[in-house]
Amino acid sequence: MKSEKLKLRYKTMEPPGGWTYRDKDTNVWIISRVNFADLIDKVREHRNSNELAIPDDLENQVETFICYRIPQDLVIGKIERKVTPHSLHAIQKFTQEFLQTIQNVKVISPDKAEERAKICLACPLNMSVVCMDCNGLDAWIRSWNGNRKTSVDDKLHACLADGIFVQASIHADAEFTQVKELPAKCWKRNGTDGTNATNEEQES
Ligand code: SF4
Repeated sequence: MKSEKLKLRYKTMEPPGGWTYRDKDTNVWIISRVNFADLIDKVREHRNSNELAIPDDLENQVETFICYRIPQDLVIGKIERKVTPHSLHAIQKFTQEFLQTIQNVKVISPDKAEERAKICLACPLNMSVVCMDCNGLDAWIRSWNGNRKTSVDDKLHACLADGIFVQASIHADAEFTQVKELPAKCWKRNGTDGTNATNEEQES
């Protein structure tokens, strides 16, 4: 979930698409036919019945989730839509092609994926272009990669160097030699095990 705090401009009126929320841990869509408060109750019940913790900011998370799915004039707060060299459609297409290509490629260890994820966190090319969980993109990627996660998935976005969602690439034991312009510290330029970079590159 994105960290922005967004509010519904008309919280007593049903938003386009209805009172709906996708629990990102269970990937279950929860729907209320009544109102926002009823939706929150249903989300709490769902998480309780699955023995999942209830976040302190649950209401804010649900409200922000809905805000990302409706027209911006129905929202209080600014939704950041970054301009990127790749359209969202192109990023989804590049990611789909990548996931199809690596179907028979091994995955790396969870620890190594976590290391890669942390490198991406510090990289300016890790750019937020869409809310990953509001749009089910995280679940889509996990359906391809064996439900693998890192502790920082909610901060991983699209890599602007190759137009692939970072959550999709970080687990693959694949070469990325076709990507030409990568930052010096990028794990993609350092081979599958991160050992190819020179010391000079790693320090820059
Ligand atoms: S360029 Fe490399 S470090 Fe930066 S976001 Fe892309 S994969 Fe991550």
